[in-house]
Amino acid sequence: MTNTIYFSEDRLHVESLAVSDIVQAFGTPTYVYSATKIEAAYQHFVSAFADRDIMVCYAVKANSNLGVLGLLADQGAGFDIVSQGELERVIRAGGDPRRVVFSGVGKQDPEIARALQAGIACFNIESRSELERIAQIAAPLSISAPISVRINPDVDPMTHPYISTGLKENKFGVDIETAREIYRRAKELPWISIKGVDCHIGSQITDLAPFKACVQKVAGFVDELASEGIELEHIDLGGGIGVSYNGESVIDVRDYANAICEILKDYPQRLVFEPGRTLVADAGLLLCRVVTLKENEGKHFAVVDAAMNDLLRPALYGAYQRIEPIAQLPRKEQVYDVVGPVCESGDFLAKERRLAIAEDDILAIHSCGAYAFVMSSNYNTRGRAAEVLVKGETMQCVRDRESIEDQLRLERLFSV
Ligand SMILES: *Cc1c(COP(=O)(O)O)cnc(C)c1O
Repeated sequence: MTNTIYFSEDRLHVESLAVSDIVQAFGTPTYVYSATKIEAAYQHFVSAFADRDIMVCYAVKANSNLGVLGLLADQGAGFDIVSQGELERVIRAGGDPRRVVFSGVGKQDPEIARALQAGIACFNIESRSELERIAQIAAPLSISAPISVRINPDVDPMTHPYISTGLKENKFGVDIETAREIYRRAKELPWISIKGVDCHIGSQITDLAPFKACVQKVAGFVDELASEGIELEHIDLGGGIGVSYNGESVIDVRDYANAICEILKDYPQRLVFEPGRTLVADAGLLLCRVVTLKENEGKHFAVVDAAMNDLLRPALYGAYQRIEPIAQLPRKEQVYDVVGPVCESGDFLAKERRLAIAEDDILAIHSCGAYAFVMSSNYNTRGRAAEVLVKGETMQCVRDRESIEDQLRLERLFSV
């Protein structure tokens, strides 16, 4: 697939631009996303399903920047949302609400009402009480609520426990028996329209087997519903395809598509997908500057101007993110822990990496397009990083760096 992040003449580039020019324009820390790479990833996903009727609903939570959503909306993507805030972002970005599915275990009444009025494609229901709640909100609005039930297929996705969602002990979805009862009840409710069935077993999955097991269970359940006279229009198989953070082998979307289409070849339903990470992760870099190099008892640290508040994945999951200087310069090599200035020992971005760097050099952290900026915070009163989209020779800031004033705006002194 199109690689738009590459070295040329010893300098890292994003599309037609040298990363050093992006840093010159926007400073550090800054997130940079390659528009072409995101578009190509979306088209690659869609084309893997060739002649099957599908709807690809990008999981907004992976990277919800308006600029990124706008790119995907222009490609014709649908969206998988988990809050009203995400719905408003999609609408603001020009996305079509009729191609939106609403996931999440804790949808609140005003969120449900807003989504009904916007005319979304489907609510992915995660409990009995959610069905009743949606029915109650839909009736006075005289809007028929499109629903599917998120089943928990009890399949182990073999990923990090924090991002596995399809096991019995997880909070997500309902077991098959409960799902059956929810569908029976849904059939009786006047303002409920059964559209499909839904599942999502986890994230950063690098093996096809759990996906196949899940699809098989879902297919069996679709048969069961059909035998009760409940016909579905779509089957939503969620997201979860992993990316290669550290050279690990990952699933080819075409193999994923072939496996699914094979299992579901006799099922006429439209297929819905909710990919997040696989569409955006590899399109993003986090750029940071080396502030200080220091040594404690023989251990070397590179202190940079990005921190766990900018990129939480290493601290949260012990995640590996590839890191390298944006220019290959003659420097002494050393094994460093790359850390931020935040007052936590968990504030690291990379551990024990061999790097040839000096103070003031710029480092690029790879695969930062997903679950990166969206998890950032103001911890230590650090402003969030800027976000920049690049296409060809064009770079555009799609979110300004937060100023101290931005951070203080919503606060006031307590005066009695
Ligand atoms: C997070 C999430 C996704 C996207 O997962 P990826 O691993 O980023 O593809 C899709 N569906 C639901 C319900 C999710 O919670």
